[in-house]
Parts: sequence; structure tokens; C-alpha cells
Amino acid sequence: MDHPPLPFIDLQAQRARIAPAVEAAVLKVVREGRYILGPEVQELERELAAYCGAKHCLTCASGTDALALFLMAKGLRTGDAVICPTFTFAATAEVVAWLGASPVFADIDPDTFCLDPASVERAIATAKAEGLQPRGIIAVDLFGHPADYDRLLPIAEAHGLWLMDDAAQGFGATYRGTKLGTFGDFTATSFFPAKPLGCYGDGGAVFFEDDALVEVLTSLRVHGQGQDKYDNVRIGMNGRMDTIQCAVVLEKLKIFDDEIEARNRIAQRYTEGLAELAKVPTLAADCTSIWAQYTLVLPTGTDRPALQARLSAAGIPTAVYYGKPMHRQTAYARFPVAGNGLPVAEDYAARVISLPMHAYLADEDQDRIVSQLRAALTD
Ligand SMILES: *Cc1c(COP(=O)(O)O)cnc(C)c1O
Repeated sequence: MDHPPLPFIDLQAQRARIAPAVEAAVLKVVREGRYILGPEVQELERELAAYCGAKHCLTCASGTDALALFLMAKGLRTGDAVICPTFTFAATAEVVAWLGASPVFADIDPDTFCLDPASVERAIATAKAEGLQPRGIIAVDLFGHPADYDRLLPIAEAHGLWLMDDAAQGFGATYRGTKLGTFGDFTATSFFPAKPLGCYGDGGAVFFEDDALVEVLTSLRVHGQGQDKYDNVRIGMNGRMDTIQCAVVLEKLKIFDDEIEARNRIAQRYTEGLAELAKVPTLAADCTSIWAQYTLVLPTGTDRPALQARLSAAGIPTAVYYGKPMHRQTAYARFPVAGNGLPVAEDYAARVISLPMHAYLADEDQDRIVSQLRAALTD
């Protein structure tokens, strides 16, 4: 091999840029000793809320907990249904099933990979036909592109449902000129290291406007506490984000906008190099993506495993998100699906491929990825 393998996401390149600041911030927490709910936690919550224009932000232990906290606050229970895209990471539907409720899987839009509003309508009808009570919709900003809130919110309203934005991949993107964080009733995000804004472990945050939720969520995050730690007024969880991890995100937030710019430039270069050979990602009108992934849809019939093997031999890592939609997963196959099938997700599961994407991808490395991929697709 002429080249050492490229990383799929180069966290070390980012680290090299900010190491002194991050290490000083972490060391400060270590020395001060306020490991749980230290001052950096609230500082980060204030900064994140200001960043996306949300009224309230609370950090929590992971993106999964962020999703679960809202469902717990809403009292989701057995017999309830929540509409989720089938083409997503498992956590989106997992939290619904945790609480004994039923995810009902809907299809995705072929251009944005996000929930197809028409399929959401069908999923609501399916839920009712199965004797379930539809309670809400979880929209996912898949691969960093915002879901179609202008069409999803009126559907939620017409059916009396809440809408949660699973922005684990999308935080930092904009929908019709506004940053994600304020669409629907609640937004959840993740700081898993590989997400566009990540920490050095697990972490997450929730965003919302409703003042009444502050007390409920703060309590749920610490075992349903009431007056104090040993007064429990509701069933909660241990859902706090570590002070150290908050200190890391505070430093990364300082370079986030600059990284977003770089991600957009890199995505644009991929699109220019690959548009004739595969279906490249498109942006909906007045939307920006944070490019959590740059995902192509390969021509029907492409031998994807062979393509991946060939790229891998040339030192180019690729990934398949998601090769098995949720409704095909062993643990989720028993839950209902919208209407009579989810054809876009089924088709895309066999054809998607994600390319290396991070803010530090050098032009010459990207050019090599593009030319190897072009050669592989035209041979
Ligand atoms: C990563 C991710 C989550 C879960 O976040 P964790 O912090 O890993 O718990 C939820 N939803 C989506 C769409 C994700 O990509």
C-alpha cells in the first residue's frame, strides 16, 4: 500500500489543534474536585442554549438519556405509540421500547434521509388501527440534515402529538435559517466522540422552551429527587454529564463554527467530484447540514462489499449507515410499520455508503478518495 490508511473521523487532528486548552480545562476540573455537577456543567448549559437560541438546556449522560428524559417527563407507557424513522441509529426507537411503549416505524424521504411526512401520516393510522395511542413523533436529523419541520409540525399538531427532534447527528445545522434546538417540543443531542460536537466519552444535552419542564427534568436526571438527594418524588435515573466532559465540550464549542465551515467545504468538494457517479446528498431549501456523515446512494446493482474492500485496500475506510433498518432488527421486528412497507429505507439499506468526513480532511487526501471511488465505480 502506498498510503497509510486514512481515519474515517480524525479526532487526533482536532486534538492537536486544541490540546493545550482542553488539557488545561480537564486538569482544572481534576484539581478542583467538583466532578459531579461542577461549575462547568451550568456554564456549558448556558453556552449551548445561547448557541442554538433555546430557552433551556440541560446536559445529561448521553444522547440516549437525552431522548429518554423527555419520554419519561411525558409519562410514556405501555399502549402508547411513538412514530420514528426506521432508517436511524437504534437509540431513537430504543428509548420508546424501554418505557414499554411501541415505536411505529415510518419511511424516509429519498433526498434528505429524514422522516417522510406522508409515511408519518400512515404510521399514525397504523398505530390507531393496532389499538395503540399515538403520543408523539421523533424526527431525526439524519447525517446532519434537518428533518422537514414545516411539514412535520402541522401533522403533530393536527393529531395532538408532541414532536421531539433527535439532533444527535444534527446539532449545529440550520433549518430555514434557524439553528436546530428549537423545533418541536424538545431537542436531544449527543456528545459521543464521533458526533460533530463530541466530548472525550459519553455526554448529551436536551433543549426546550417550557419552563415547567426544568424542574421535572432536573429531578429525573438525579433519580427523581425532590427536596434533596434522599427525597424521591418520581422514578428517575442517573443521567448526569460529568464535569470533565462538559469542560471538554466548552473548549470544542469555541472552534465549532469554524469546523462547520470546513465540513461544508469538504462536503461541497465531494459533491463536485462524485455527482455524476452516485446519488450525492442534497440540501432541502433553506437548510444547512452539519455533515455528521457524507453519504452516497450507490447505483442499483453496485457490489457494495467489493467496493468497500477495494477502497479499504487503498487505505480508504468507508461505513454503511444503516445496512439494517430498525424494522428489520431482531429486537424491533415485532413493532408495527407504516402502511404496507418502508420501500425507500429498504432500498437505501442496500445502497448507502458513507465516506470519511471530518473538519480536518486534507484536500489531497480527499482528492485521493474521490479518484479511487471514481475509478471503482467506472471500472
Ligand atoms: C448517536 C445517536 C444517538 C445516541 O447518542 P449516544 O450519546 O450515543 O447515546 C441517538 N440518536 C441518533 C440519531 C444518534 O446518531
